[in-house]
Amino acid sequence: TTFIGASFGGIAEMYAQIQKAVGATERVFELLEETPEAINATPKISSIEKIKGIVSFRNVAFSYPSRKEVQVLKDVNFSAEFGQKIAIVGPSGAGKSTISSLLLRFYDITSGEILVDGKNIYDYDLENLRGNMSIVPQDVILFGGTIRENIAYGKPNATDEEILLAAKQANAFNFVDGFPEKFETLVGERGVKLSGGQRQRIAIARALLKNPSILILDEATSSLDSESEKLVQEALEVLMEGRTSIIIAHRLSTIRNADKILVLDNGEISEEGTHQELINLENGIYKNLSNLQFSNS
Ligand code: ATP
Repeated sequence: TTFIGASFGGIAEMYAQIQKAVGATERVFELLEETPEAINATPKISSIEKIKGIVSFRNVAFSYPSRKEVQVLKDVNFSAEFGQKIAIVGPSGAGKSTISSLLLRFYDITSGEILVDGKNIYDYDLENLRGNMSIVPQDVILFGGTIRENIAYGKPNATDEEILLAAKQANAFNFVDGFPEKFETLVGERGVKLSGGQRQRIAIARALLKNPSILILDEATSSLDSESEKLVQEALEVLMEGRTSIIIAHRLSTIRNADKILVLDNGEISEEGTHQELINLENGIYKNLSNLQFSNS
């Protein structure tokens, strides 16, 4: 795995940190084992060009290398213009998170094309591509260091002012300021234990500091308490401003104002439109999901 360390840079380091923090997980090994093809691609696009953040999937098909017989995505087509909020919904196991893994090039697609700013993602230098993307995952894992280090992860040379501003914008400042050691507070096993909502706000501060063109939000399935939920939601609104956001949505209430909602079903996008358009579709999947969720809540 030496070449991974050499060319995989930040991500490998991050996984090393995560491993240190939480112990080796199967997922870490899976990712490291399954990425070499993506890493080996020779970049054709200069890293100097700033990525605007236009994303398109064209006829994308994909199977996980360990389960080649199952086609998780069959023919996925969609596009996100610069600055749009695109939400992906669909039943559990439909392949929503898989779409984000493919965009981040954790796995190579089987066929079709994924374009960023109209160019094939495999033509980008991997670090440059990922350097322009941030993901706020369902369950944020922080590495065992200080809060400052965790926020600055996306921009190691960040100044104190930048870190402070990011923490404030992410609604993280108040709880951080409440700890005796403030930004120097250790998190993880040897430090404070943060709640799910607090960890998410740290991840949002990290993403704000990184200032990516493309943001991937994998919404938490387990709900946070309503106060924390409100603070996280506010912080996410700030974070989404001025970037292209792809939201993997588990709760329909948070995506009503998305520019476009995609319904993923059976490996394909079966419905596409705004909330209003989709609830008007007779016998639509979204309409049914929507009726179910709102009648249960
Ligand atoms: P959820 O809403 O439950 O998070 P999802 O729509 O995000 O689901 P994915 O996580 O993308 O679904 O999974 C799509 C399919 O791919 C599922 O059948 C899942 O079991 C399978 N899958 C996911 N990750 C892997 C993996 N690393 N290796 C093999 N199969 C996988």
